Amino acid sequence: MFRSLHMKLTLIMLLLILSLMAAVSIFLTASVNSFYVNAFYRQLDSVFGVDQREFVADLRSAAGEADGAERLRERLEANAGLLGIDYHTRNFFVLDGITGAYLTGSDGAEALPADPSPNLLSARLAVERGDGSAVGDESVPGAGYMDAAIPILAGDRAYILYILDNCETLSGLNRQLFPIILQALVLGLVIAAGLSFLLAKTMAGPIEKLTAGAEEMAAGRFDKPLPVESADEIGTLTGTFNEMAGVLQSTLAAVENERNKLDTLFLHMTDGVVAFDMSGTVIHCNPAATEMLRRDVEPGWSYAGLFQDIAPFEKILSLQRPNYAEGELVAGDRTLEILLAPFSDQALGGVLAVLHDVTEHHRNEERRKEFVANVSHELRTPLTNVRSYAETLRDGEGDIPTDTANGFLDIIISETDRMTHIVQDLLILSRLDAGNTDMAFTRFSFRESIESVVRSNALNAQSRGHEMSFVCGEELPWIEGDRSRLEQVMMNIIGNAIKYTPDGGHIRVSAGVQEAQVWMDVWDDGIGIPEASRSRIFERFYRVDKARSRESGGTGLGLSIAWEIVQRHHGSLSLPPHEGPGTTVRLVLPIRQRDERRRNP
Ligand code: ADP
Repeated sequence: MFRSLHMKLTLIMLLLILSLMAAVSIFLTASVNSFYVNAFYRQLDSVFGVDQREFVADLRSAAGEADGAERLRERLEANAGLLGIDYHTRNFFVLDGITGAYLTGSDGAEALPADPSPNLLSARLAVERGDGSAVGDESVPGAGYMDAAIPILAGDRAYILYILDNCETLSGLNRQLFPIILQALVLGLVIAAGLSFLLAKTMAGPIEKLTAGAEEMAAGRFDKPLPVESADEIGTLTGTFNEMAGVLQSTLAAVENERNKLDTLFLHMTDGVVAFDMSGTVIHCNPAATEMLRRDVEPGWSYAGLFQDIAPFEKILSLQRPNYAEGELVAGDRTLEILLAPFSDQALGGVLAVLHDVTEHHRNEERRKEFVANVSHELRTPLTNVRSYAETLRDGEGDIPTDTANGFLDIIISETDRMTHIVQDLLILSRLDAGNTDMAFTRFSFRESIESVVRSNALNAQSRGHEMSFVCGEELPWIEGDRSRLEQVMMNIIGNAIKYTPDGGHIRVSAGVQEAQVWMDVWDDGIGIPEASRSRIFERFYRVDKARSRESGGTGLGLSIAWEIVQRHHGSLSLPPHEGPGTTVRLVLPIRQRDERRRNP
């Protein structure tokens, strides 16, 4: 209860006021007491002081008479008013100067203090010394009475006038003063309590509001600024507090925003990220990492179970920026490149593992190597032929019959053509790969294109004894595309059907419309494509039977080029299921091209 600032302030102020009032009361009582004592001695001084020599001389002459004590009593009775003798609280005594015995006194003078007071003793000593001027009028603090002893010497007689005030008036005054002080104290206390409560409320109220505001802020609620109710320090503090809350809110919002960005990045990035704390325990793992590692990496997993083979955890922790460790990991059919680096070297740091899926990169690398090997191989064979026939012609000089020499020259020319063909195909492919082959998009009749390609191949098919037909019952729409390149694709498919069908075969070309697409199937009853090769025939240089393909002048690039061209038209090339011996190749093309820029106006 007394922990609150409000109560503390109230209590402090109450204590302050209480101690102040107590001090005032003590001071007041002490002042009254000293005033009373001072008044007593001033009064005596006005009677027996140096200015009153005549009165003292009169007392001495009275003392010198036969009944000196009685005479002295009469004189004092006569001056009772001046001495303040009231016969009740203040009396006078006439004592024997030598023995100190009581001789006479005022009516109320009943008993002397049990122990002679210091004033009385000093008066007696003065009598002994014969010093009539020494007056014992020292107040004795805490004695409970006030007294004065005046030695009166007259010849051989010596008396002591002793005035004694038993302080009853003072005690009575104190007794009366005490309840008044007490009442004032209680009243003051009540008023002080009320006032200090109000004061404390005024002072502690804004601080309590500030505290409540700070608690709200700690709970993350910044939307309620505190009202600035005064222009004093508390008002300034409240204003500053509001400003601070505003800055904190915008800073927190910026931090939150950054965190959200990072979270989104972390969640959707294609690279995998796994974070470990200082003990090597997983603290974060993004979905890409889970997917790449082919297992659910839960928080709590250890580094040792994941990347120990690449580098020990302690070694990664000891690395200095920007150093990192890297290695490869095979997870299922995937090859992952792992980069390991420490983050923040404080106690809150750890190790970050970044995972790149390099499977495709590796495959591409393989393909590239295979491609280079294929190109070299494809060019080396005709080159070797050209070289050997040319050497034979050179070495044979005039010995070779003209027919044979011409035959050799024909081979050289055909091998050169073949090389030119390969180089041209490679050039087309590299242009398509580089994306700098402009497609001349126009609208043209799909039917007319097929018919034209079929017509061009008719002679070729006829020479092989094939029966080739084009069947299409429905009306075919005009389509958008690069006509000559699409006809090149059709030419390749139909040409392959003719090539890879033994003489006297059947080739059927059919076409149709399906929703927003047109299709063309080229069916043959030729040698067919084995199941294992079906997925690969669109690869560069892939040929099911290399010898047969070479014989028929194939480069193994025709379908790859066709695939690339069809891709540029957002269409597809596929091998649909085929009943019986032979092959069906399907070309599907959209009627309208998505990319408006590719269309000619
Ligand atoms: P090529 O110039 O060797 O014909 P392609 O890329 O046109 O090259 O064809 C790739 C391979 O696919 C061919 O070598 C062949 O083995 C196979 N192929 C293509 N079409 C057919 C078909 N209609 N029947 C059988 N095999 C085919």
